[in-house]
Amino acid sequence: MFVVFIGPPGAGKGTQAQRLVELLNVPHVSTGDMLRQAISQGTDLGKQAQNYMQAGKLVPDELVLEIINECLDDPRLQNGCLFDGFPRNVEQAEALDQLLANRNTPLNMVLELQVETQELVRRMLARKRPDDTSETISERLIVYKNQTAPVLQYYAERNLLTAIDGTGTPDEVFARIRAATGR
Ligand code: AMP
Repeated sequence: MFVVFIGPPGAGKGTQAQRLVELLNVPHVSTGDMLRQAISQGTDLGKQAQNYMQAGKLVPDELVLEIINECLDDPRLQNGCLFDGFPRNVEQAEALDQLLANRNTPLNMVLELQVETQELVRRMLARKRPDDTSETISERLIVYKNQTAPVLQYYAERNLLTAIDGTGTPDEVFARIRAATGR
Protein backbone atom coordinates (compact mmCIF):
# COMPACT_ATOMS: atom_id res chain seq x y z
CA MET A 1 0.00 0.00 0.00
CA PHE A 2 1.44 3.36 -1.07
CA VAL A 3 0.21 6.19 1.13
CA VAL A 4 1.05 9.90 1.17
CA PHE A 5 0.82 11.71 4.49
CA ILE A 6 0.52 15.50 4.22
CA GLY A 7 0.20 18.14 6.89
CA PRO A 8 1.44 21.62 7.71
CA PRO A 9 4.61 22.01 9.78
CA GLY A 10 3.81 21.49 13.45
CA ALA A 11 0.68 19.39 12.88
CA GLY A 12 2.13 16.40 14.73
CA LYS A 13 2.74 14.50 11.52
CA GLY A 14 6.01 12.96 12.73
CA THR A 15 4.38 11.31 15.75
CA GLN A 16 1.43 10.04 13.78
CA ALA A 17 3.64 8.82 10.92
CA GLN A 18 5.52 6.56 13.36
CA ARG A 19 2.27 4.96 14.44
CA LEU A 20 0.88 4.79 10.94
CA VAL A 21 3.84 2.84 9.53
CA GLU A 22 3.37 0.28 12.30
CA LEU A 23 -0.33 0.02 11.56
CA LEU A 24 0.18 -0.36 7.82
CA ASN A 25 3.38 -2.37 8.22
CA VAL A 26 5.20 -0.43 5.50
CA PRO A 27 8.54 1.42 5.46
CA HIS A 28 8.58 5.11 6.40
CA VAL A 29 9.93 7.45 3.72
CA SER A 30 10.49 10.89 5.25
CA THR A 31 12.35 13.28 2.95
CA GLY A 32 12.92 15.67 5.88
CA ASP A 33 14.59 12.88 7.92
CA MET A 34 16.71 11.81 4.95
CA LEU A 35 17.80 15.38 4.26
CA ARG A 36 18.68 15.98 7.93
CA GLN A 37 20.69 12.76 7.90
CA ALA A 38 22.54 13.87 4.74
CA ILE A 39 23.38 17.17 6.44
CA SER A 40 24.69 15.49 9.60
CA GLN A 41 26.80 13.13 7.46
CA GLY A 42 28.16 16.05 5.44
CA THR A 43 27.31 14.46 2.07
CA ASP A 44 27.08 16.45 -1.18
CA LEU A 45 23.31 16.24 -1.00
CA GLY A 46 23.41 17.55 2.56
CA LYS A 47 25.59 20.47 1.57
CA GLN A 48 23.28 21.38 -1.27
CA ALA A 49 20.15 21.10 0.88
CA GLN A 50 21.38 22.84 4.01
CA ASN A 51 20.80 26.49 3.14
CA TYR A 52 17.30 25.87 1.85
CA MET A 53 16.35 23.96 4.97
CA GLN A 54 17.78 26.56 7.30
CA ALA A 55 15.74 29.20 5.51
CA GLY A 56 12.55 27.10 5.75
CA LYS A 57 12.39 26.90 1.95
CA LEU A 58 11.83 23.84 -0.20
CA VAL A 59 14.93 21.98 -1.33
CA PRO A 60 15.03 21.89 -5.18
CA ASP A 61 12.84 19.19 -6.72
CA GLU A 62 15.71 17.51 -8.54
CA LEU A 63 17.49 16.74 -5.24
CA VAL A 64 14.34 15.44 -3.56
CA LEU A 65 13.30 13.39 -6.59
CA GLU A 66 16.72 11.81 -6.73
CA ILE A 67 16.29 10.64 -3.13
CA ILE A 68 12.80 9.29 -3.83
CA ASN A 69 13.83 7.55 -7.02
CA GLU A 70 16.69 5.83 -5.24
CA CYS A 71 14.39 4.86 -2.37
CA LEU A 72 11.85 3.26 -4.68
CA ASP A 73 14.55 0.95 -6.05
CA ASP A 74 14.83 -0.61 -2.60
CA PRO A 75 13.10 -4.04 -2.74
CA ARG A 76 11.66 -3.41 0.73
CA LEU A 77 9.45 -0.73 -0.84
CA GLN A 78 8.05 -3.05 -3.45
CA ASN A 79 4.71 -3.50 -1.69
CA GLY A 80 4.31 -0.02 -0.37
CA CYS A 81 5.52 2.74 1.91
CA LEU A 82 4.40 5.83 3.72
CA PHE A 83 5.60 9.05 2.07
CA ASP A 84 5.96 11.67 4.80
CA GLY A 85 6.82 15.26 3.84
CA PHE A 86 6.71 14.35 0.15
CA PRO A 87 5.34 15.50 -2.27
CA ARG A 88 5.57 19.16 -1.23
CA ASN A 89 4.47 20.77 -4.51
CA VAL A 90 2.46 19.79 -7.58
CA GLU A 91 5.60 19.07 -9.64
CA GLN A 92 6.71 16.51 -7.06
CA ALA A 93 3.19 14.99 -6.99
CA GLU A 94 3.26 14.61 -10.79
CA ALA A 95 6.74 13.09 -10.65
CA LEU A 96 5.62 10.63 -7.97
CA ASP A 97 2.63 9.57 -10.07
CA GLN A 98 4.98 8.91 -12.95
CA LEU A 99 7.47 6.94 -10.84
CA LEU A 100 4.73 4.79 -9.33
CA ALA A 101 3.00 4.30 -12.69
CA ASN A 102 6.28 3.02 -14.15
CA ARG A 103 6.28 0.40 -11.40
CA ASN A 104 2.59 -0.45 -11.83
CA THR A 105 1.96 0.44 -8.19
CA PRO A 106 -0.22 3.56 -8.14
CA LEU A 107 -0.86 5.55 -4.98
CA ASN A 108 -3.63 4.08 -2.81
CA MET A 109 -4.43 6.90 -0.43
CA VAL A 110 -3.53 10.43 0.65
CA LEU A 111 -4.13 11.51 4.24
CA GLU A 112 -4.13 15.19 5.17
CA LEU A 113 -3.67 16.21 8.80
CA GLN A 114 -5.54 19.48 9.46
CA VAL A 115 -4.61 21.88 12.30
CA GLU A 116 -5.29 25.63 12.62
CA THR A 117 -2.37 28.00 12.02
CA GLN A 118 -2.36 29.46 15.56
CA GLU A 119 -2.05 26.00 17.06
CA LEU A 120 0.71 25.08 14.57
CA VAL A 121 2.87 28.03 15.62
CA ARG A 122 2.30 27.21 19.30
CA ARG A 123 3.35 23.57 18.76
CA MET A 124 6.42 24.45 16.69
CA LEU A 125 7.71 26.97 19.21
CA ALA A 126 7.34 24.30 21.90
CA ARG A 127 9.34 21.53 20.12
CA LYS A 128 12.65 23.46 19.73
CA ARG A 129 14.06 21.84 16.58
CA PRO A 130 17.16 23.67 15.22
CA ASP A 131 15.25 24.78 12.09
CA ASP A 132 12.31 26.06 14.20
CA THR A 133 13.07 29.75 14.69
CA SER A 134 10.17 32.18 14.42
CA GLU A 135 11.43 33.28 10.96
CA THR A 136 11.65 29.76 9.54
CA ILE A 137 8.32 28.84 11.11
CA SER A 138 6.52 31.63 9.31
CA GLU A 139 8.44 30.88 6.09
CA ARG A 140 7.49 27.20 6.25
CA LEU A 141 3.84 28.07 6.83
CA ILE A 142 3.90 30.36 3.78
CA VAL A 143 5.58 27.66 1.69
CA TYR A 144 2.93 25.18 2.83
CA LYS A 145 0.08 27.49 1.89
CA ASN A 146 1.54 28.48 -1.49
CA GLN A 147 3.15 25.26 -2.66
CA THR A 148 1.86 22.30 -0.66
CA ALA A 149 -1.83 23.21 -0.36
CA PRO A 150 -2.23 22.89 -4.18
CA VAL A 151 -1.06 19.27 -3.81
CA LEU A 152 -4.20 18.64 -1.73
CA GLN A 153 -6.31 19.95 -4.57
CA TYR A 154 -4.37 17.73 -6.99
CA TYR A 155 -5.18 14.61 -4.97
CA ALA A 156 -8.77 15.67 -4.24
CA GLU A 157 -9.37 15.83 -7.99
CA ARG A 158 -8.09 12.25 -8.23
CA ASN A 159 -10.37 11.10 -5.38
CA LEU A 160 -7.43 10.04 -3.25
CA LEU A 161 -7.66 12.60 -0.44
CA THR A 162 -9.00 12.07 3.08
CA ALA A 163 -8.77 14.95 5.57
CA ILE A 164 -8.14 14.14 9.23
CA ASP A 165 -8.84 16.50 12.13
CA GLY A 166 -5.42 16.88 13.79
CA THR A 167 -6.64 18.48 17.03
CA GLY A 168 -6.88 16.65 20.35
CA THR A 169 -4.56 14.12 21.97
CA PRO A 170 -2.21 11.98 19.86
CA ASP A 171 -4.44 8.96 20.63
CA GLU A 172 -7.56 10.77 19.47
CA VAL A 173 -5.87 11.85 16.24
CA PHE A 174 -4.52 8.37 15.60
CA ALA A 175 -7.98 6.83 16.09
CA ARG A 176 -9.25 9.08 13.28
CA ILE A 177 -6.31 8.13 11.03
CA ARG A 178 -6.89 4.47 11.71
CA ALA A 179 -10.58 4.79 10.85
CA ALA A 180 -9.66 6.54 7.59
CA THR A 181 -7.37 3.69 6.57
CA GLY A 182 -10.05 1.12 7.38
CA ARG A 183 -7.62 -0.89 9.55
P1 AMP B 1 10.14 18.18 7.32
O1 AMP B 1 10.92 17.42 8.33
O2 AMP B 1 9.32 17.30 6.42
O3 AMP B 1 9.32 19.28 7.93
O4 AMP B 1 11.20 18.89 6.33
C1 AMP B 1 12.13 19.82 6.82
C2 AMP B 1 12.69 20.63 5.68
O5 AMP B 1 13.30 19.77 4.71
C3 AMP B 1 11.68 21.45 4.88
O6 AMP B 1 11.44 22.70 5.48
C4 AMP B 1 12.37 21.57 3.53
O7 AMP B 1 13.39 22.54 3.56
C5 AMP B 1 13.06 20.21 3.39
N1 AMP B 1 12.20 19.22 2.71
C6 AMP B 1 11.69 18.07 3.24
N2 AMP B 1 10.96 17.39 2.35
C7 AMP B 1 10.99 18.13 1.20
C8 AMP B 1 10.42 17.97 -0.10
N3 AMP B 1 9.63 16.91 -0.40
N4 AMP B 1 10.68 18.92 -1.01
C9 AMP B 1 11.46 19.98 -0.74
N5 AMP B 1 12.01 20.21 0.45
C10 AMP B 1 11.79 19.29 1.43
